Amino acid sequence: MDTEIFETTESQVRSYCRSWPTVFTGASGSIMTDEQGKEYIDFFAGAGALNYGHNNPKLRSELIDYLTSDGLVHSLDMMTPAKREFLQTFKELILEPRNLDYKILFPGPTGTNTVETALKLARKVTGRQHILSFTNAFHGMTLGSLSVTGNSMKRQGAGMPLTNSSKIPYDDYFDGETPDFLWLERVLEDSGSGVDKPAAIIVETVQGEGGLSAARAEWLQELRRLTSHHDILLIVDDVQAGCGRTGTFFSFEEAGITPDIVCVSKSISGYGMPMALTLFKPELDVWTPGEHNGTFRGNNPAFVTATAALRHYWSNDDFEKGHLAQVIDTLQDALMKIAVEVEGTTVKGRGLLTGLYFEDPEIASKVAAVGFENGILVETSGPQDEVLKLMPAMTIELDVLQRGLHILAECVSEVTKQDISLVLPEPANA
Ligand code: PMP
Repeated sequence: MDTEIFETTESQVRSYCRSWPTVFTGASGSIMTDEQGKEYIDFFAGAGALNYGHNNPKLRSELIDYLTSDGLVHSLDMMTPAKREFLQTFKELILEPRNLDYKILFPGPTGTNTVETALKLARKVTGRQHILSFTNAFHGMTLGSLSVTGNSMKRQGAGMPLTNSSKIPYDDYFDGETPDFLWLERVLEDSGSGVDKPAAIIVETVQGEGGLSAARAEWLQELRRLTSHHDILLIVDDVQAGCGRTGTFFSFEEAGITPDIVCVSKSISGYGMPMALTLFKPELDVWTPGEHNGTFRGNNPAFVTATAALRHYWSNDDFEKGHLAQVIDTLQDALMKIAVEVEGTTVKGRGLLTGLYFEDPEIASKVAAVGFENGILVETSGPQDEVLKLMPAMTIELDVLQRGLHILAECVSEVTKQDISLVLPEPANA
């Protein structure tokens, strides 16, 4: 296998290719194939950018038709039919049925672009500088996003002080006994606390990179109540947990809260193409034309596949209540069964952003490495990579999912030297 050019020429910052040292040639649905013809079951889904699988044929046919018809590819924020259809579809199928009245801003096409946009907008609207974020949060790698991120290795990469933000404890950070928001409530009410009133609090409902802690619905509701009461904007970063990954389109639907600003990216294009949205309440729409800008905000092929994904999967609740719910049940059921059999292991996360926490932090990485040898792609999460993170595509066939879960159980058994008998119900579509 010829990998020399990557090793000699590409920066050493590359990382995923070190965990999965092969050259991938193709992918279909949840199966990826390498140059040796070996197949892998994909439990990574492009870090959440491939929620509808690889090369989803329903989306691809619309993309090909669009490209062959000479439709615009790049258009900054000019008006195009592709953008019109995306805006109409998103409004009709996603926002209106959920009673969400949001303006839609297209930032640059990545997750960190929408987070930067949210932080900048919150500061502009409130005239305040300080932002609060949570322990173990991850919001992206540019300076503003890093300043609200927890991970010390990533923060050190900034090479300069990351200022104007503070961390507060995420749900269940302490012992389960300390009342939620004890510190926050106290300092916000105390004019002598010395803590600047923040412009916004930014939160992930499930911490995708920080170890798969999932906030309880009541904790999110209390966060919403507190932020509203103190006139602080609430930003939900739904870059990873959104677009269906937790079982509903937005991850905050379960808690029944309405954030002031929502960050969306990764799977919004449906096809793995770069695209992001920043959604916010209409009264926050204060920028003058061009005050926030960027060249790659009009990726029309991404608009086309995004619209197709919404129409095919979200025009009613058949997919959400049907296949998606079944995939979630199957995954959770298998992980619970493995956790029961392996000492020191618990299930973390929510929906298809779920994983296995191991008390011994070395186990998750070892299982991921053995998994690669045995044909599954799984990554780790958490400050010590102590959580094995399972995030299959929402569209994964149930028999493929079960095959992957059996391989996973064998890998956990091999690394932990504990017998695991994983008995899963017959898949409906086997
Ligand atoms: N926010 C969250 C919650 C994320 O998980 C990520 C990426 N893992 C980002 C922001 C940054 O996205 P990107 O890598 O596209 O900049």
